[in-house]
Amino acid sequence: MPPQSLFDKCDMAKGRHIFHRMLNWVLPERCPCCGTITAAGGSFCVFCWQKLEFLGPPWCRGCATPFEFDRGADAYCAVCIANPPRHDGIRAAVKYDDLSAQVALRLKYGGKIGLARVIAQHMLRHLPEEQEQLIISPVPLHWTRIWSRSFNQSALIGKQLADMSGLAFVPDILVRHKRTPSMRGLDHKRRREAVASAFAVHPKYKGALKGRSIILIDDVLTTGATSDGCVAVLKRGGADWVQIFCWARALRGDGTQAGTTISFDA
Ligand SMILES: [Zn+2]
Ligand SMILES: [Zn+2]
Repeated sequence: MPPQSLFDKCDMAKGRHIFHRMLNWVLPERCPCCGTITAAGGSFCVFCWQKLEFLGPPWCRGCATPFEFDRGADAYCAVCIANPPRHDGIRAAVKYDDLSAQVALRLKYGGKIGLARVIAQHMLRHLPEEQEQLIISPVPLHWTRIWSRSFNQSALIGKQLADMSGLAFVPDILVRHKRTPSMRGLDHKRRREAVASAFAVHPKYKGALKGRSIILIDDVLTTGATSDGCVAVLKRGGADWVQIFCWARALRGDGTQAGTTISFDA
């Protein structure tokens, strides 16, 4: 049996761990982007607030890419007309850029889990008015990543959004049984299939998704391949309507959609 002092040390370490975890849940007193101390918890500093590009209509009905002018609520962009998306819309709080990426990185790798609440607050305005039977569910992580990080950032955001809106939160509809598959040498269609093959509907929800509407939470959307794979699997599993909600998304034509400098592979 280990000496008592070792138990004491273990308990102290455990206590410290829990204390730090609780601290991380407290709304940050610093700007979520740049770390400047702010007066109110969870708010952005004036500089970052002005720089962040909050997204909203007018936008494409299919992919919610912003339009420079209002073309009407039913207008689709050229890309959606040529290639109708599998999802039923993307709702992002802000445009993906270096500044908004910092928020996602602090949550994901910095362990600032209180930021999940800040992010969810900025997603609330995008929830559809018709909310009957709506379920919130995250893009799942592979178990090895859960093991190393101890949380799924998309699940934290989804839980916060559910608590704020009163919607149902079901974190385990999808399971990820492969890490990011190799895409080398695959064309667009095969890439989509390869990503989709990494996900599956959990066996306990087989048959339960029929006719359901799902809000799929992802932290950041760059190429969109991961969330697209999840949408395909959810729809194959019977879901009627799937909309993707994220903190930040890369927009076409601004150089951030492909080849981003920061890796958000899970
Ligand atoms: Zn700031
Ligand atoms: Zn579109």
